[in-house]
Amino acid sequence: MKLEHYIGGAHVPSVSGATFATLEPATNTEYATVAAGDAQDVEAAVAAARTAFTEGPWPRMPAAERAAVLRRIGAAIESRDDRIAAIECRDTGLPITQARGQAHRAAQNFRFFADVITTLGENVYRVASAQLNYVVRKPVGVAGLITPWNTPFMLETWKLAPALAAGCPVVLKPAEWSPLSAGLLPEIMEEAGLPTGVFNIVHGIGEEAGAALVAHPDVPVISFTGETGTGQIIMRSAAAHLKTLSMELGGKSPLVVFDDADLERALDAAVFGVFSLNGERCTASSRVLVQDTIYDTFVARLAERAARVRVGSPDDPATELGALIHPEHYARVMDYVRVGMEEGARLVAGGEPPTGLPGGNFLSATVFADVTPEMRIFQEEIFGPVVCVTPFSTEEEAVRLANATRYGLAAYLWTNDLRRTHRMTQVIEAGMLWVNSQNVRDLRTPFGGVKASGLGREGGHHSIDVYTESHIVHVATE
Ligand code: ADP
Repeated sequence: MKLEHYIGGAHVPSVSGATFATLEPATNTEYATVAAGDAQDVEAAVAAARTAFTEGPWPRMPAAERAAVLRRIGAAIESRDDRIAAIECRDTGLPITQARGQAHRAAQNFRFFADVITTLGENVYRVASAQLNYVVRKPVGVAGLITPWNTPFMLETWKLAPALAAGCPVVLKPAEWSPLSAGLLPEIMEEAGLPTGVFNIVHGIGEEAGAALVAHPDVPVISFTGETGTGQIIMRSAAAHLKTLSMELGGKSPLVVFDDADLERALDAAVFGVFSLNGERCTASSRVLVQDTIYDTFVARLAERAARVRVGSPDDPATELGALIHPEHYARVMDYVRVGMEEGARLVAGGEPPTGLPGGNFLSATVFADVTPEMRIFQEEIFGPVVCVTPFSTEEEAVRLANATRYGLAAYLWTNDLRRTHRMTQVIEAGMLWVNSQNVRDLRTPFGGVKASGLGREGGHHSIDVYTESHIVHVATE
C-alpha cells in the first residue's frame, strides 16, 4: 500500500522523494509506505489552498451551497463506512466495533456543521435613522489542521467539517502512526464536488511537516489535537505570526464515586471510561477517586470487571480492547506499569500482555489501587488501558484530589446528592463535567479543557469561531 500527499487535486510524492513505513499494531509488521513531507511539500499545499482562498469559489459561496457540499461529503463517508472502519481498525488497533462507531461519527460531523453554518446569523444594527452597522463573519484564510493517531478519521473530520463550513481551504497533516484512513478523503471530497485546492493533505512526521505548517505565514489558524508538550511547541512557533490557535491537549480525568451513587452504573462508567478505545482517548477517566466507605468493595469489583475485558485481535467483533498503536507507545505504557509497581501502587488487575496474542502491542486491562497524588502514575497521562484508584473520605478531599494534576479536560461525578453535585461542578477544574453519565455529548456544546488540557473550544458555533473573524461595517445610508 502506498500513500501520497494530496495537493491542488493531485496525488503527489514528496518533493524530496522521502517516505516512511507504518506498522500494523496487531502484528507490528510494516504494511504501508507513506510520503514523508517537509517544508517544500507544505509550501506547495499552502500555495494551492491560498489560491483557492483568494481566487476560488469556496469562501465566496453562499453558506447554503457550502452546506450542500458538506452534506454530500457526509453521504460519501457513509457509503464507505465499512471500508473506513476496516482501515481504521487495522491502522490504529482499535476494536472493529468501536472503529465503526468512529466512522459513523465522521459522517455526522459533516451533516452537523452543514446545519450550523446555515443557521448562524449575522447581525445588523440600525444605530440611528441613517446609520447602519452590521457584522460580517469572514473565513480567516488557509486553516492548518494537525491531528493525532488515536481516532484519526473522526478527529480529522471533526476539524475539517467546521473549517470547510466556514469557507476556509485546509491543509491537513494526519498523524504519522495512523495516516491511512485520511487516504480516503480525497476521493470523498471529489465525489462530493468540493472545488479543487480547497482540501489538501501533507503527510509526514510532526517535527517536519507539522512544524512547517505551523510556521507558514499564510496559515493564520492552526487547530491541533495532541499532547500538551507538542501544543506548547506549536504555541511558541505560532506566536511569530500571532496565529489563532485551537488546542485540545492531554488529560488525566478523574471519575469521582461517592457512597450514595448507583455503584453498578458507576462501575460500568469506570470500565467504559478507561478501557474503551484502548484507553487511548484524551477524555479517558484514568483516575478513579472512591469514597473510603465503599473503597474496598469498589476496587474488588473494578478488578473483577477489568479481568473480564476481552483483549483480542482488533478485527474480531468480540474484542473490547485491541492493540496499542505503536511499539514505542506500548513501551511507554508498559514503563508506567513498572513505575506504578515501583512507586508502591497495588496492582489488582492486568499489568501484563494477555497470553495467546504474540507479536502485537497488547496489554490486559490494568488497575492500580492505593495510588497517591505524589505518584507519577497519578499525575502523568498514560494514554492506555491503565486506571489508578485512590480513596478519599470527604467532599473537600475529593475536590482536592480531582484538581491535583496539571490537567483539566474532563471529570465524571457519581453521586445522588443534588446539592453536592452543584457544589462540585463549581469547583472542579475541568472543561467538561459529566454527572452520573458517561461521556455522551451534544455536538453543539463546547468541547475543550482548562489548565494544561487546552486552549479554546470546539463544537457548534465555537468551532466556526475558530475559522472566522467578525468584521464590522458602518454605513451612512443617506
Ligand atoms: P499524539 O501522541 O497524541 O499523536 P502528538 O502531539 O505527538 O500527540 O502528535 C499529534 C500531532 O501533532 C501529530 O500529527 C504529529 O505529527 C504532530 N506534531 C508532533 N510534533 C509536532 C510539531 N513540533 N509541530 C507540529 N506538529 C507536530
